[in-house]
Amino acid sequence: MTGAELTREHVRVAVIGAGFGGLGAAVRLRRAGITDFVVLERAGAVGGTWRDNTYPGCACDVPSHLYSFSFAPNPEWPRNFSGQPHIRAYLERVTDTFGLRPHLRFDAEVRALRWDSRALHWEIDTASGPLTADVVVSATGPLSDPRIPDIPGLAGFPGAVFHSSRWDHGYDLRGKRVAVIGTGASAIQIVPAIQREVARLTLFQRTPAWVLPRMDRRISAAEQWLHTRVPATRALRRAALWAVRELQTGAFTKRPDALRLVERVALRHMRRAIDDPALRARLTPDYRLGCKRVLLSGDYYPALAQPHVDVVAAGLKEVRGSTLVAADGTETEADAIIFGTGFHVTDMPIARRVTGAYGTTLAEEWRDGMAALRGTSAAGFPNFLTIIGPNTGLGTSSMILVIEAQLAYLVDFMRQLDVLGAGAGGKVALDARPSAVRAWTDRMRERLSRSVWNVGGCDSWYLQDGLNTTVWPGTTAEFRRATRRVDVTEYRVLRPEREAPPDTARDTARDADAHAETGTGSGAVGAGSGAGRRAW
Ligand code: NAP
Repeated sequence: MTGAELTREHVRVAVIGAGFGGLGAAVRLRRAGITDFVVLERAGAVGGTWRDNTYPGCACDVPSHLYSFSFAPNPEWPRNFSGQPHIRAYLERVTDTFGLRPHLRFDAEVRALRWDSRALHWEIDTASGPLTADVVVSATGPLSDPRIPDIPGLAGFPGAVFHSSRWDHGYDLRGKRVAVIGTGASAIQIVPAIQREVARLTLFQRTPAWVLPRMDRRISAAEQWLHTRVPATRALRRAALWAVRELQTGAFTKRPDALRLVERVALRHMRRAIDDPALRARLTPDYRLGCKRVLLSGDYYPALAQPHVDVVAAGLKEVRGSTLVAADGTETEADAIIFGTGFHVTDMPIARRVTGAYGTTLAEEWRDGMAALRGTSAAGFPNFLTIIGPNTGLGTSSMILVIEAQLAYLVDFMRQLDVLGAGAGGKVALDARPSAVRAWTDRMRERLSRSVWNVGGCDSWYLQDGLNTTVWPGTTAEFRRATRRVDVTEYRVLRPEREAPPDTARDTARDADAHAETGTGSGAVGAGSGAGRRAW
């Protein structure tokens, strides 16, 4: 062993990312009495997506009283749908209130993670130096790496080009001809926010979105006072927001045709703002509402009705100098291009940097579709938990509920490691059984097969080559139940002294797994019963 290896820092847990997921993990670990952990953050501040997205109009379209931690309520949310500066400030406050600063490592982008099967820990290479950790919590978020489409000629565009999540605040939009590309949640907030100051705005719409009224309003000082003095009123408000969304879920997951009724509301909403029948036709979706994320806005359609705003009903195909060419041949002159074209969701960049027990990366394992037990543990990646992993996304409710459910799972995972380690007289690791991951994923696919995301007649980033690897097909209460406890029978328990070399480990794991499924295996603690079982 070299001197460098001897002095290399080791922690019990390394959390990657200091957004909602990573900060929540830090709070829950501390509450569980685990203080030997670091939070590795590539940027210089906390906040994740709410730090990076500073575009004009940026706000959350989930009500703030639901889009916040249950353990860190904020009675002073200023609006139903608070803006990015307030959400970012909330996360800074959570960081201070829960004493998380000593755990934070800024400018520590994780470059590579490699599982060491003999030492039963992760070797981590970061921009601020190497370390090792028994457990890694990947909370990098699905919306962290911007996706800019590969448009021929874009490099030769003489004007400004930026992505919604990397807004160039140094660029003055006033009096400019601006093209906005995309009609997702980001673009429909940007368009109304900038239309007044630009000379001309052209929206490149590949697919029209279903847009419902946002019903935003200021939360009055009296309400804030009441929520502060009588916490039960705040809890009641949150519970009501949660319950309404739970009740809506069935239409999305099981009865997409019921969403026709909501389409009528959306069409009326459009008709109220748009008089021009040709523009209405261009803005009317031809797929079931809910298939893509339903958008909420009160000022999107009015902005599109302005005389200096154009909607090109086709995607951006090519750039020739300062001329933007749409797929339908329309040509538009522009001074600036703003891409509201989303993120690398189904091809999470972190997956290329994680090398598991068999020498393959998570990206390689997920080539044919992301899959993880209970949205958290991928087979062959021991002690590696993903927050907002495969099939954990929601169409209707707050992702903070999903994050908190996964954090409860993390805490139980840590407890199981302690219990199993104490029984075995040393260190152990838990590796999801391939059969358990398969059973879980099959169940996801079966349930999603009748959901609006699969049968609604659209293409979306929820789908990876036709497979829905992103959305959770149930209510948040179901997800909470499914992640309340770690079922150890769904895992192989690894111990250092028994670990086989990597090339034979995969076969051994599969054999043990097959035995466990037929009930003939022993080996791992509690092996056998849980892998193929329906667990919720
Ligand atoms: P997005 O939902 O992935 O939308 C990307 C848009 O870009 C789509 O409309 C897509 O068209 C379009 N596009 C891609 N390439 C194009 C091209 N060459 N020409 C024209 N259009 C093109 O991205 P996003 O709006 O940034 O939102 C990402 C996610 O962030 C959302 O779903 C949401 O979860 C989250 N978000 C949330 C909030 C919030 O309020 N909570 C706000 C903003 C974002 P197609 O539809 O045809 O693919």
